[in-house]
Amino acid sequence: MADQKLNFNSRTIHGGQKPEETTGSVMPPIFQTSTYAQSAPGEHKGYEYSRSQNPTREALEKNIASLEGADYGLAFGSGLAAIDAILKMLEPGDEVISTNDLYGGTHRLFNSIFRKYGIKFHFVGMDHVSRVSEKVNAKTKLIWVETPTNPMMNVIDIQAMSKIAREAGALLVVDNTFATPYLQRPLEHGADVVMHSATKYLAGHSDVVLGTLAVKDQEVAEQLYFIQNSSGAVCGPMDSFLTLRGLKTLHVRVQRHCENGRAVAEYLRKHDAVEAVFWPGFEDQPQYEVAKRQMKDFGGMVSFRIKGDQFEDASRVVSALKVFTLAESLGGVESLAGHPASMTHASIPEAERAQTGVSNGLIRLSVGIEDVDDLLADLDQALKA
Ligand SMILES: *Cc1c(COP(=O)(O)O)cnc(C)c1O
Repeated sequence: MADQKLNFNSRTIHGGQKPEETTGSVMPPIFQTSTYAQSAPGEHKGYEYSRSQNPTREALEKNIASLEGADYGLAFGSGLAAIDAILKMLEPGDEVISTNDLYGGTHRLFNSIFRKYGIKFHFVGMDHVSRVSEKVNAKTKLIWVETPTNPMMNVIDIQAMSKIAREAGALLVVDNTFATPYLQRPLEHGADVVMHSATKYLAGHSDVVLGTLAVKDQEVAEQLYFIQNSSGAVCGPMDSFLTLRGLKTLHVRVQRHCENGRAVAEYLRKHDAVEAVFWPGFEDQPQYEVAKRQMKDFGGMVSFRIKGDQFEDASRVVSALKVFTLAESLGGVESLAGHPASMTHASIPEAERAQTGVSNGLIRLSVGIEDVDDLLADLDQALKA
């Protein structure tokens, strides 16, 4: 594709895009239609029914593929619908090795839905490569990586995981939601599939729920298109349009998210009321070298633990914030604060949560692109509360 020659900051705008043919419309129209006229049975323009193909969704799928350096892109009704499609490639008896510190909804989908169908999951701390290789056997079909992880911001070595996956004949999938392709392109490090909750940074404006996959291999892509059409968890044209619109400013937004994220992480680390700060950009952080190798910068997600690690204290801080909104989700232009133990990660059993560090005093920030001084002042007043 010619636009693969463009640099990333141009591909957000032009990747896979062309003016619409009948009118020259620069933005792809919202093709709000379920079906398409045929001139004779089976004679059509490549579009039959909008579950199978829709031009607005296709424009988004091409853009996603371009951004991740993939040949194929797929868009779904949510991030979880995209994950669901990948898991449907497996069969009863197959095994999955997944990071243990992962998005609560992904954990629930694996453990409560797909386990019922005879798929076995091993959740391990992937910051130690040996913990993954120990679990590999002939039944290992999928290695699931989320990096940086949610909410502990652990960084997993994609290259090391791709080596294990290749040797095992398993597929390596990376949930790239936190990093975005602006910061990290897992296919360049050996992953087979990149998954996004586009709900977060890709769409970027907290106004849409959508998921995407980017795939290198044709055979894998064909299987996934078959599942997308057979299971039918597609996104609508309006949401495809909103995501495309958001993507055009991805590089500009994420650059600012990174600047503000760094300022917030450094501020919190010096604060007396804060016990620990989790952000991949600290040089004394154990996975700093890996983060530096596979990421362009360190993103806008910052977690921290309040001194004493009490729910009441964390609750008081997040409730006192005024510029940060207390809400689930992340990656939008506005700053959000969350309490993982009671919000996004409540579906993970407490013992398992504690093991990964998601304790009662942990607060997760999605640092937005407001004026950084307003964000720091807000944290300052809330931490005094
Ligand atoms: C939100 C999120 C998901 C799930 O995506 P939805 O769009 O909410 O279905 C998966 N992974 C990560 C890392 C997320 O933050």
